[in-house]
Amino acid sequence: MKLTYTPSPKPESVSSQDWDDWTWQLRHSLKSEKDFSTYFDLAESERKVFATSENAKEVFNIRTTPYYASLASKTIVNDPIRRILVPHEKELFDPKQAMLDPLGERKSKNNPVPRIIHRYSDRVLFLITDICSVYCRYCTRKHFTGSDQAFIKNSEYENAIEYIRKTTGLREVILSGGDPLTISDGQLERVLIDLRAIDHVEIIRIGTRMPVVAPMRVTDNLVKIIKKAKPVFLMTHFNHPRELTSEAAEAVERFVDNGIPVMNQMVLLNGVNNHPAIVQALSRRLLYLRAKPYYMFQCDPSIGTDYLRTTIEDSLQIQKELWGHLSGLAMPNLAVDIPDGGGKTYYTPDFETSSSLEKRSYIGWDGVEADYVNPEASHIVKPLDYELYLDEWESLKAAKK
Ligand SMILES: *Cc1c(COP(=O)(O)O)cnc(C)c1O
Ligand code: SF4
Repeated sequence: MKLTYTPSPKPESVSSQDWDDWTWQLRHSLKSEKDFSTYFDLAESERKVFATSENAKEVFNIRTTPYYASLASKTIVNDPIRRILVPHEKELFDPKQAMLDPLGERKSKNNPVPRIIHRYSDRVLFLITDICSVYCRYCTRKHFTGSDQAFIKNSEYENAIEYIRKTTGLREVILSGGDPLTISDGQLERVLIDLRAIDHVEIIRIGTRMPVVAPMRVTDNLVKIIKKAKPVFLMTHFNHPRELTSEAAEAVERFVDNGIPVMNQMVLLNGVNNHPAIVQALSRRLLYLRAKPYYMFQCDPSIGTDYLRTTIEDSLQIQKELWGHLSGLAMPNLAVDIPDGGGKTYYTPDFETSSSLEKRSYIGWDGVEADYVNPEASHIVKPLDYELYLDEWESLKAAKK
């Protein structure tokens, strides 16, 4: 079956020229109850959150592009895409676990200077804006996003660049936020040029949800700027196959056609995509566009997300059902961020039935039983030339003290 991608249902009252202009999409973002009422028949359970958010700051910001709103059901409250973007009173319920900063990004050991998160030795996150064009109800970074800080203050920017410059063991910078593609082409170009001027920065990643929520952001000029800064990996964040409209598909292909690899990070969400049929549909459609499904994250226990989280057992079951049926290229890694800044941990289905120093036994995904017998231990030698790469390895490990 040929995979197809259908256009977004643009309202008739909007011209194609406006709809296809990302700045129009941002300028016409829905923020208030009144704005949302133009796209949704709001239920009482949803209106309640708008009312609360006006008096209480603890409700996470509410915002969407008209384009993204058009992908959700106008009438059905529990529509998967609507669950991502329209707040629900369940956000306000007593949670089992609710952390303001689930990834421990505010801890000083991970946050050496403002805007830099340095948790792994060779790579840092650089949070260059607090703005997103859609505030996803499950967001893990509610402590940053939504403060309406557009491009960060110049002093913070200079300090962050200086930290990257002097930390010579760093190999990779991950632009994140907020959404780095909400800033202007000119600002993004400056960041990329400044990073490329640092000798030891090999890889740049851009983590963005714009191809999902405003794919018209991916203009020829944007792609040109990113292409020039190569090697840059574009990390998208599609969660549901219905997000892959023809506009989004074109945006993904525009990156790949220009030599910019695209990887997707999805989050498993209750009532949104927590079924193997949905994950496979999303993954195959992404792969067909040459976007590699990279991570399938367990939802972090950020404030107000209890009703959107799956159990880890649910997530393991979904992974196990997909295993063997779905191409390895289409299979994302299931990862959990250990709360409080413990870093990621991965799961893979466990097919091992017993193990000893001599051998390990397995029953494979479709029932084949076999052993893997270790080679003679006395045969094991180090590669003759490993010392050539030892300095490089030591400096990488030393990047984070
Ligand atoms: C997830 C994450 C990364 C990237 O990890 P990869 O496994 O390389 O994709 C880097 N830094 C922080 C703080 C992270 O949370
Ligand atoms: S786009 Fe990312 S950072 Fe922004 S609200 Fe959504 S999940 Fe949070």
